[in-house]
Amino acid sequence: GSQGTNEVNLALIGELGSGKSALTVKYITRRFINEYDPELEDTYSKPEHVDNQEILVRIMDTCDKEGKDPERYLKWADGYLVIYSITQRSSFETAQRYLDGISQHLRLTTTYDAPLILIGNKVDLERYRTVSKAEGSSLAHFYNAAFFETSAAEEFNSVERVFHEAIREVIREQERY
Ligand code: GDP
Ligand code: MG
Repeated sequence: GSQGTNEVNLALIGELGSGKSALTVKYITRRFINEYDPELEDTYSKPEHVDNQEILVRIMDTCDKEGKDPERYLKWADGYLVIYSITQRSSFETAQRYLDGISQHLRLTTTYDAPLILIGNKVDLERYRTVSKAEGSSLAHFYNAAFFETSAAEEFNSVERVFHEAIREVIREQERY
């Protein structure tokens, strides 16, 4: 990770189709882009203002062929946003495996305790929900992760709030470290 002052690297991780790219694009541009190349992996940056601090936020929107070269984001990130879709049970199970893998990595390699944030996306599709909020919250609790539900398709504020909370957690940890 960067661990320099005022720089925060966040990696978005999760099953294909959970909405990582949609959340990234929404956060960066305030727009919801419906069709985004599912194979694309890219890094974006955004100058931010959180709690009166100037921060350069970098977002890695990963596209993981599960298990393939996780080191690229594990080594890079100061905080991890693990995404699932509340409408897709398999993505919730995948999220658990990612939380497990990241936690193991953190235990083995560093004293900096990178924050984990679990995000249940697509709450605008409430009628198709297959993962309850309580399940999300309990999974997050098990891994000592923060937990949010949001939607890349709805108001910007709901998405911005999640990213700001992730940034705050990283800064808190960087200051402690
Ligand atoms: P990724 O593979 O994790 O990057 O997923 P994408 O961001 O490409 O999203 C997969 C599909 O789900 C796309 O058709 C998106 O438009 C859609 N999608 C992503 N987030 C949301 C959301 O919050 N609500 C709804 N209704 N659709 C979403
Ligand atoms: Mg994507």
